[in-house]
Amino acid sequence: MENRENTCEQCDYYLQVQPGSGECRRYAPQPNRTIYASRAEATGGYKTDVHWPKVYDSNWCGEFKAKR
Ligand code: SF4
Repeated sequence: MENRENTCEQCDYYLQVQPGSGECRRYAPQPNRTIYASRAEATGGYKTDVHWPKVYDSNWCGEFKAKR
């Protein structure tokens, strides 16, 4: 396993949602691809969700910013 200190868990942009994982709030939430939800699954229409990227405590990226 990679041993890093600058992980999402230590990042100012990280919002923990549940133990071990959360959301990256570095940028505004982005829409995912529009999918067709069949009537059996939902309302029988096209559906677009907007969300922040889901990350794990141990993830990291080049946008890391230490917690204030
Ligand atoms: S390290 Fe990167 S992916 Fe993780 S919370 Fe920070 S900005 Fe988001």
